[in-house]
Formats: sequence, C-alpha cells, structure tokens
Amino acid sequence: MQLRNAKLCLDCEDVHDAPQCPTCASETFAFIARWVPAPERRERVRPPQEPPRPAELQAYRTLLDPAHKPNGSGWQLVRQGAMGLALVGVAGWLWKSASAEASADKAGGAGRAEKERPSSPNV
Ligand SMILES: [Zn+2]
Repeated sequence: MQLRNAKLCLDCEDVHDAPQCPTCASETFAFIARWVPAPERRERVRPPQEPPRPAELQAYRTLLDPAHKPNGSGWQLVRQGAMGLALVGVAGWLWKSASAEASADKAGGAGRAEKERPSSPNV
C-alpha cells in the first residue's frame, strides 16, 4: 500500500486502499495523504550509473583494505615515486640556489664573489 493511495476508514479507523473498508465495508474514508504529505515520486531522475569494472573494484578494495597486500610492490612503487619526487625537488632547489649565487656573482663583481664562495655552506 502506498501513502498516496492509503485511506483511513472513518468508521473503524482501519487503513486500507480499497474502495470499501475491508473490515467494516464502510465507504466513508479520508486519504491519509491529507495529513501526511506524500511528495511526488522522484522529481529528478538519477542518471544511470554504470557499474565499476572489475579492475577498478580490485583497486578500490586494495586501497580500502590495509591488510590486503597482494605483493607489496604497489606500495614500494609509491614509496619510490615519492622518494624520486623529493630528490627532484631537492635538486631543483639546489639548482635554483646555485644559479642565484651565480647571478649574484655577476652582479656583485668578481672580487667579492671570490671571497664569499669558500664560506658558503651550500657548496
Ligand atoms: Zn472500516
């Protein structure tokens, strides 16, 4: 029985959705939706969602289950990738600081740069 069709018998207070009350055969009723608002079914139709492929499912399972380690090479790969990124970052930082020093050498003159270079901790 759906709320929009549910009727309350005014004689025996039974709830039904038939033209007559199945309990007392009374034809006096009131729709329950009069007191309980029954919103329209689905105003917005959800777009059909295609089910995930088995490979994606396995990837999600691997990500969500910390105990599930098929071979450990995945996390090792991630760790190596992170290490590689860190190394690239450090190298870029060193390169930048070295080129900044070189440009400072050009701007400041040769004599001062010769004095600064041995005391610099970066080199
Ligand atoms: Zn009734």
